[in-house]
Amino acid sequence: MEFNLTEDQLALQQKAREFAINEVLPVARKYDESEEFPLDVIKKAHEQGLLNLGIPKEYGGPGYGLLDSCIVVEEIASACPGIASSIFDNNLGAEPLAIGGNEEQKQRILTELVNEVKLIAFATSEPTMGSDVAGMKCIATKDGDDFILNGPKFWITNGGYADYITIFATVDPEKKHRGIAAFIVPSKTEGVKLGKHIPKLGQRSSNTVSVGLKDVRIKKENVLAKPGRGFVLAMQTFAHTRPAIGAFAVGCARSAMEYSIDYAKKREVFGRPIEKYQAIQFKIAEMYKDIEAARLLTHKAAWEADQGKDNNLSSAIAKAFASDVAMKVTTEAIQIFGGYGYLRTYPVEKLFRDAKLYQIYEGTSEVQRIVISRFVLNQYKHAMPTMGRKRS
Ligand SMILES: Cc1cc2nc3c(=O)[nH]c(=O)nc-3n(C[C@H](O)[C@H](O)[C@H](O)COP(=O)(O)OP(=O)(O)OC[C@H]3O[C@@H](n4cnc5c(N)ncnc54)[C@H](O)[C@@H]3O)c2cc1C
Repeated sequence: MEFNLTEDQLALQQKAREFAINEVLPVARKYDESEEFPLDVIKKAHEQGLLNLGIPKEYGGPGYGLLDSCIVVEEIASACPGIASSIFDNNLGAEPLAIGGNEEQKQRILTELVNEVKLIAFATSEPTMGSDVAGMKCIATKDGDDFILNGPKFWITNGGYADYITIFATVDPEKKHRGIAAFIVPSKTEGVKLGKHIPKLGQRSSNTVSVGLKDVRIKKENVLAKPGRGFVLAMQTFAHTRPAIGAFAVGCARSAMEYSIDYAKKREVFGRPIEKYQAIQFKIAEMYKDIEAARLLTHKAAWEADQGKDNNLSSAIAKAFASDVAMKVTTEAIQIFGGYGYLRTYPVEKLFRDAKLYQIYEGTSEVQRIVISRFVLNQYKHAMPTMGRKRS
């Protein structure tokens, strides 16, 4: 067992940290307030090879493993969770292609994403469904070798700026997961209507839009998963992207903790800095302990994927745990700052607003607990004899 990062991973962490400090942190507040899309930061991330982390070397990408990606994601999210979501949405959009695409599709699109600043979004969610992926209603109708897509998609991150959208749709809603297919949809295709940016509580610099599909013709070469294969592809994608959500949450929580340490050393009450009071010391100890545990779970889930193991369970654990940690730590950070924590003057209120999203997107915390409880109740093997049998 090995818990140390390699020399290469430490260098990558340093590179990402410098990018976060120099390019992301200085503009985080500005983009949060203006709710503009941080395209200039995305372009810089692309220049520095930090945009499409997982694209394999044979398609021109850096070919980083998931653990490497988590290391980068933690650094960028610690500077701004919203900008980090915007930068790393390409990982989510491209993952179904990396997992399920054929060679021609990968050569054509993954290579383009690496060579130019191109964005690819991901769309399963609809106005009437998010958690229940098998319950989607967006229709894919076969027409010769082509498919025609109709229906609305909702909540699509980066959708307003995306060049491509990986869209999941069903040939028949009655068939549930057996009817779902997946398609690569160039956003300029006739019939695709990208909505206006939807204002949000946090992560305001990340672009969130609806995507309307009206008689959108998808050629055979852009069919990513045939009907019946799309649901599995979506689930495989989430198993690969949920560890990164854990890493986002760790980065967000880490910054809230660091601001809390700085403030606790500076703020004096009853004649002493608040860091001298055990109530505050214990809050900071809890933060550190929880962040450490969340990072370990996140790295384990990523490591399992890198080893080619089934990481569905570990990624659910990592995402659920780290998201809850981010919410808890950012809440306690506001408490440590007292009234000032509640003001927009200090950065912890932004991190608190930003953290909430981790418990919602890419499968809510309840959905992760469904995955975990299914395993524990149906597959977990007892170490000790079951109750009622004699323990030898
Ligand atoms: C800012 C933002 C960006 C997003 N980006 C994308 C994107 O790029 N692409 C995309 O496809 N989607 C995206 N989403 C959608 C996101 O994945 C969904 O919002 C999420 O999956 C939850 O779905 P929902 O909102 O429909 O809630 P619902 O599914 O309606 O759930 C409502 C509540 O019920 C709970 N619940 C649901 N099922 C169960 C159950 N069986 N047992 C117990 N509780 C349950 C949920 O946990 C939640 O608390 C984004 C969402 C947001 C807010």
